[in-house]
Formats: sequence, structure tokens, C-alpha cells
Amino acid sequence: MQPFEYAAPASVDEALALLARHGADAKVLAGGQSLVPLLNYRLARPRFVVDVNDLPLDEIRVDAGRVRLGALVRHSTLAASAVVARECPLLTEAAALIGNVRVRSLGTVGGSLAHADPAAELPLAMVALDARFELRSARGSRTVEVRDFFSGYLTTVLRPDELLTSVDAPPTRGAGTAVEEFSRRPGDFALVAVAAIVTIDRQGRVENARVAIGGIDGVPRRIPAVENALRGEPPATDRIARAAELARAEVTPQSDALASGEYRTLLAGVLTKRALARAVSRAMAVPA
Ligand SMILES: Cc1cc2nc3c(=O)[nH]c(=O)nc-3n(C[C@H](O)[C@H](O)[C@H](O)COP(=O)(O)OP(=O)(O)OC[C@H]3O[C@@H](n4cnc5c(N)ncnc54)[C@H](O)[C@@H]3O)c2cc1C
Repeated sequence: MQPFEYAAPASVDEALALLARHGADAKVLAGGQSLVPLLNYRLARPRFVVDVNDLPLDEIRVDAGRVRLGALVRHSTLAASAVVARECPLLTEAAALIGNVRVRSLGTVGGSLAHADPAAELPLAMVALDARFELRSARGSRTVEVRDFFSGYLTTVLRPDELLTSVDAPPTRGAGTAVEEFSRRPGDFALVAVAAIVTIDRQGRVENARVAIGGIDGVPRRIPAVENALRGEPPATDRIARAAELARAEVTPQSDALASGEYRTLLAGVLTKRALARAVSRAMAVPA
């Protein structure tokens, strides 16, 4: 690890002042589960590390009708939160799938979103949920929609002097939600992951479907062809299977050391079918 200066500010303003002063020479340290390996391999060589673990950004609350998570909410806290389980169970399921117990106890929501791994569960869930991000700097704050936040592989629109302070998402009460993923070993990053959110109307038809896929492109993204194929239709098993097949036509993943593009394409179809089937069955069980 290359030597660096270190500070652990006690207030957000102090952290923002340090980021403003050191700019691109600084790195934010949250749970360290992605940053510390990057430092160890010298893939990141900051001159200054701003440890944000003492900042008061670990709150989970319902605010103006949206579920708001502070950037320092740990994955394990998210997975165990009763508020999140009631309002946004997709996040409960997604958080429980991350890595292993150690990673979940240390890793943070903000760290996962800022790191922007295309196969990570929380970026995927935020895309499915249409989340919004609050970014703060000494210059002020801005709100960024999820569709504008991830800009490429491990890349976001966060500027060097900005801190992601919170993320908020609409509750999914009345919907059925599910995350499905496949990884080579338990605890590994997913090869492909799919999140689905489905609501059923009083006639028993699909009112709305949101389907997002990760591990395929540089950023997780929605699959509108699958969503449109289901909207307004009864969610019969064969219709779900046909809609899920469309996912395969919508993706063109590259081969890499972990899996071939063909295998990832196959997984896209299988996991979309499984996620939709579970989301539909949960939506049908929601009391009218
Ligand atoms: C063995 C192992 C297995 C893993 N498996 C999975 C998995 O299956 N799924 C998964 O999603 N993740 C997995 N992870 C990664 C884990 O989720 C990390 O917690 C996450 O990627 C980074 O969160 P962190 O809080 O540790 O951030 P850090 O490592 O501290 O930081 C990561 C990056 O984000 C920046 N950053 C952090 N917080 C902020 C902020 N508030 N504002 C601006 N920038 C910020 C840092 O500067 C750094 O660039 C795994 C990690 C390990 C070590």
C-alpha cells in the first residue's frame, strides 16, 4: 500500500472541506471492502484518505413518502431492518445476498453504490426501484436520478470533492418483488443478477412490471421489452416464460475469465423467469 495521510472527520462539513482541499488526491473510506483491496494492489494511490465512518449518516427512515438510507448504513443493518422489510423488501433480499457475513457487517450502502460494480446487488436494486441519490460537496448539494448516476464500469458521476450522503427510493407496498442471481460459489459476486417488481390490478392482470439486470453491461439496466410484454396481461406461467425469453434477445454480454457471453445470455433468461415468477406470486398474495 502506498503511504497516505489520513483523517477521520466527525462532521459532514469537515469531510467535505477535506475533499474540497484534496480533490482528486483524496479517497473516501467507508467499509473498506472494495477500497482496501484496491489500495493493497496499488490500483488506487490516494495521497489523502478521508475516513467517513464517524459521520452521522447511518439512519434508515421513511421521509416524504420515500425510504431514505444514509450512506453509512451497513449491508447487514439494511438486511435486518424492519422498516426496509415492510416498505422495500427488495432491498432486504438484495442486501442479504451480498458477499459473506464479514463483508455485510463492514460494507456500506454508499460504498457499494459509489464503487458501482455492475454485478453488485444494491446498484441493481436501485435501478429497479428508480432510486435517487443525494450528493454533497462544499459547493452545495444535488439530487441525481439512478439512471444518471452510473456512467460506466466502476464509474459514477460523483466528482472527486463529492460525498454520496443518502439514497432514497419509493416504497413498493402492494407490489411483489424478488432478486435472483447466480454465482460460481456462495459469497462470490453474481455472474448475472435480476431484480423484478410486479403489481397486479383488480382484474388479476399485470398493472406494472419493472425488471433490471446486472452483470451483463458496464452498468445495471432495465429491460423494457420484458416489462412491456407483461403489462396488461394475466401473469400466467407460459406468459412469464415468453416474456423472460425476451431478456435473452436484449442482452449481448462479453465473455470474460468467469463465464462466456453465451452462458450469461442463458442466465439472463433463466433468472428473469425465476425473478418474475416469485415477484408475481408475492404480488398475488398482497391483500386487496
Ligand atoms: C470477499 C468480498 C466479497 C464481496 N462480495 C460482494 C457481493 O457479492 N456483492 C456486492 O455487491 N458486493 C460485494 N463485495 C463488495 C462490498 O459490497 C463492499 O461493501 C462495497 O463494494 C463497497 O462498500 P464499502 O463501504 O466497503 O466501501 P469502500 O471500500 O470503503 O469504498 C468503495 C469506493 O466507494 C467510495 N466511497 C465509499 N463511500 C462513499 C461515499 N459515501 N461517497 C462517495 N464515495 C464513497 C470509496 O472512495 C471507494 O472508491 C464484496 C467484497 C469482498 C471483499
